[in-house]
Amino acid sequence: MRKVEDYIRSIPDFPEPGIIFRDITTVMQDSDGFKLAIDSMEDTIKDLDFDVIAGLESRGFMFGTPIAYNMGKPFVPIRKKGKLPCETISEEYSLEYGTAEIEIHTDAIKKGQKVVIVDDLIATGGTVEAAIKLIERLGGEVVACVFLTELVDLKGRDVLEGYRVESIVKFD
Ligand code: 5GP
Repeated sequence: MRKVEDYIRSIPDFPEPGIIFRDITTVMQDSDGFKLAIDSMEDTIKDLDFDVIAGLESRGFMFGTPIAYNMGKPFVPIRKKGKLPCETISEEYSLEYGTAEIEIHTDAIKKGQKVVIVDDLIATGGTVEAAIKLIERLGGEVVACVFLTELVDLKGRDVLEGYRVESIVKFD
């Protein structure tokens, strides 16, 4: 029987020389792979008490929405700057070269709501750290961060000390 990692395709030198990109499109384009990935991620939070799933643009939407739908929870998108139409708050974070900014609608999370964050992959942890700040600024409580893939050597977990972090496939 195939495991989730068997469906992930590794692309050397993308988007630049020396980087191995972990391509999750091959997980989703196979119905067995897609089901296995969603079921595995869902399994890590099935016993948790939470109210909302927040997904990070854009690959976090692909995993976050089916998990939210299956579990009967609402889904909130955290998007790149300039995409959300109503009132937002934003957080800037560092990339290898330069900075990026993500946003959330101010009415998307209510004070005291328990939130699970979903994304396809954690590398340095910068993106999810910014997402946690957004949710906490709105009065939400992050009860878990769930990733399909973790690039262990980049130590994203260290940034998330004190938070519950779940990942299905770990690469060095
Ligand atoms: P971090 O902020 O943890 O350094 O980077 C994580 C973000 O970058 C995630 O939103 C993820 O989608 C994207 N990312 C970085 N490297 C990869 C990769 O090798 N594969 C995929 N699928 N996404 C990546």
